[in-house]
Amino acid sequence: MIPVVSYARISADQERDEHGIQHQHKVNRQTAERLGWIVVDEFTDNDKSAAKSGVVRDEFETMVRALRTGKLQDGRAIRGTVVMVEDRLVRRPGDYERFVEALTYREGRVYADQRGPKDLYSEDVESMGLIGAVIAKMEVRKMQRRMRNDHRRRALAGEPPAGGNRPFGWKDDRRTLDRDEATLVAKAAEQYVSGRGLNSIVRAWQEAGIKTTTGREWTTTSLKVLLRNPRLCGWRMINGELVRGPDGQPIVGQWDAIITPEQWMAVNAIFTARKGHLVNGSGSTSPLPQDFREHKHLLTSFLRCGRIRPDGTMCGARLRVTRQRDCVQHIYSCPPKSSGGCGGLGRRGDKVDEFISEAVLAKLEERSTAAQDVGPWPGEEDLKAVEDQIKELREQWRTRKISNALFFEEIPALESEQTRLRAERERYALTAQRAAADMTDIRRRWYSEDDEDRLDISQKRAYIREALHAVIIHPVGKGNGSRTKFNPDLLEPFWRED
Ligand SMILES: [Zn+2]
Repeated sequence: MIPVVSYARISADQERDEHGIQHQHKVNRQTAERLGWIVVDEFTDNDKSAAKSGVVRDEFETMVRALRTGKLQDGRAIRGTVVMVEDRLVRRPGDYERFVEALTYREGRVYADQRGPKDLYSEDVESMGLIGAVIAKMEVRKMQRRMRNDHRRRALAGEPPAGGNRPFGWKDDRRTLDRDEATLVAKAAEQYVSGRGLNSIVRAWQEAGIKTTTGREWTTTSLKVLLRNPRLCGWRMINGELVRGPDGQPIVGQWDAIITPEQWMAVNAIFTARKGHLVNGSGSTSPLPQDFREHKHLLTSFLRCGRIRPDGTMCGARLRVTRQRDCVQHIYSCPPKSSGGCGGLGRRGDKVDEFISEAVLAKLEERSTAAQDVGPWPGEEDLKAVEDQIKELREQWRTRKISNALFFEEIPALESEQTRLRAERERYALTAQRAAADMTDIRRRWYSEDDEDRLDISQKRAYIREALHAVIIHPVGKGNGSRTKFNPDLLEPFWRED
């Protein structure tokens, strides 16, 4: 009979009772018996303190020393260890290596867990152990997180987060809507999706004397934080990740939502797209580009001079806004030669604005009709399949049907596919959201007499930018009739591809 020791450890997320520890030792004794070994001593650790970095687990260390010398403190010989599962043995990186080093210090040592004996002299097993240590490290961190706060538990139960200031849009109970604030938030989200800039919304809120729940002025940053928070649609984010249930779906909180998940995904997709690059792809999924400069006129930077220079090339300069003494309206005109233009073209601003507005609205209406036919996101089944695969793989790994190595080999590709599909669904939601926006409402608001209701210049410019790249203004030909008669045929829009 080979003399071995039994090692047991109760992890902090299990019941820390004597019974649990005795159960582990009992299983270990049975494992040893089956293999013709005999347990001569028991080492026990409680993981409660081991999970805190820097705390040395005495019994584990004593066991490692004993294995190295091959003798217990009282002189009895030992030749191996039985543990219930390998990851009970390893809780921190380095533990496993030291253990293997001590055990294999001499020939003929044995090791087993409840799945059977393992040859720790083989390199293959050692590398598996390293993976085990990596997992263990992750698990320790997870455990610490669990112990530190019950954040996630509350989140999974759909409870609103405790502490901090009252969220804007809700009453003090954090569940019931504050009607006035919620209306503002809903409107801001809707306007943001339809292209209004954060600056423009913040200015309106400041002018209306609206303050944050801590009594401060709103800024673009605080508004951005507000709009990016999935709380608005009843979801919850922890460390930048949506809190999801076992089925992979976001947990729906117990508080009233201000906007729909689709609306929030649309808002979030715009922020995400703006963070780095514009998500363009098929074109229709690109969010409205933001207007960073504040423009006073509808079409500055869109209009180009179409006059043909003596050498036969087109001038192409960006038109500026000028005013002439005898004219109430603004004039779009080509800058002088000293500023890179030809100085030889000008057109009545009000007429150009009116014509281009109409053309853009017509184009958007046409696209909206086409986009409404897109139907549901076609990737739903793919996403479901990937999520099922991940669930299945995790379950197999958890129940030890597959090895750590296989799990870590398979899981990254599936997870990145899942991330990609989720992002795609968000972009799709954005497109559908915009398609669903009632174009007749946009048309009405474009011309509304009510300042509150009317789209502001930055919103209108966003729509224009979505519809077209530029408009070339061709010169009025000689002998083409009166110069004062406005001819829309001389405006040539360059539409963005559908
Ligand atoms: Zn010119």
